[in-house]
Amino acid sequence: MSTDTLSRIPSAAVSRSRTVEQLVTGRPTSDGAGVKLTRVLSQPLQHRLDPFLMLDAFGSDKADDYIAGFPDHPHRGFETVTYMIAGRMLHRDSAGHEGLLENGGVQWMTAGRGVIHSEIPQQEEGVMEGFQLWLNLPAKDKLSAPWYRDFAAAELPRFVTEAGVEVTVIAGESHGVTGAVTREATAPLYLDLHLPADASFSQPLPAGQNAFLYVYRGALKVEGRTVPVRNMAILANEADSDGVLLEGAEGMEETRALLIAGRPLGEPIAQYGPFVMNTEQEIYQAVADYRAGRLAA
Ligand code: MN
Repeated sequence: MSTDTLSRIPSAAVSRSRTVEQLVTGRPTSDGAGVKLTRVLSQPLQHRLDPFLMLDAFGSDKADDYIAGFPDHPHRGFETVTYMIAGRMLHRDSAGHEGLLENGGVQWMTAGRGVIHSEIPQQEEGVMEGFQLWLNLPAKDKLSAPWYRDFAAAELPRFVTEAGVEVTVIAGESHGVTGAVTREATAPLYLDLHLPADASFSQPLPAGQNAFLYVYRGALKVEGRTVPVRNMAILANEADSDGVLLEGAEGMEETRALLIAGRPLGEPIAQYGPFVMNTEQEIYQAVADYRAGRLAA
């Protein structure tokens, strides 16, 4: 990424950092037509990390691990945010959207009342690496019209702190920079942080928001606790903390991490595969609608 022309922003003030409540390594699994991935945020953590429902990390240089992709499948009741670090994936959906997601780009899809889509790799070799985050919708928006946008890497808001930390603001707001997407009900914050050795970064966070980190290169320290690579750190909701202070761990050339936070919805969560509603009855309806061809009609 070229950040030479970006002005350097002084780091925000955080007087008391959140601490690490729990480290999570996730579970290797496969999804779609056989894509290997690590489910970092899984169903048992949905209430703790409300409004986030899932985080998958995928990364491989073996084509067999990703080539089958995700053929046509439905979604209802939430949003999917796909962040492609490396590789190319083609999206097509029942609402008529089509987009190529590649190297550093983001695809934001609001399934709302229903979308049927495919996500298919457009490469036969090389590295494919990225993340898919599921963000819940409030009950009042679960049956809203689908929405979709692609953001190429160059379209994502970005800044550099005085400490040299490169920040991509996928959602929310950081240091006065507004992200590519904002959402009122869940107020999601989604930052990709690149920290040089020994650099630190602070981000104010409302105490009531749920927040976590995922380190995908190097390692971080939060209040003296190390967060190793390929670990998610759930950040404690201490009433007297006003944000989080991150430090690149010693001896790491560069650390890359996602910082994700949002306002909990506090609503019941009923999930059946790709449908996330509030009640079982609404899940039965989603399945019936899908079988009858009404889901994305
Ligand atoms: Mn999907």
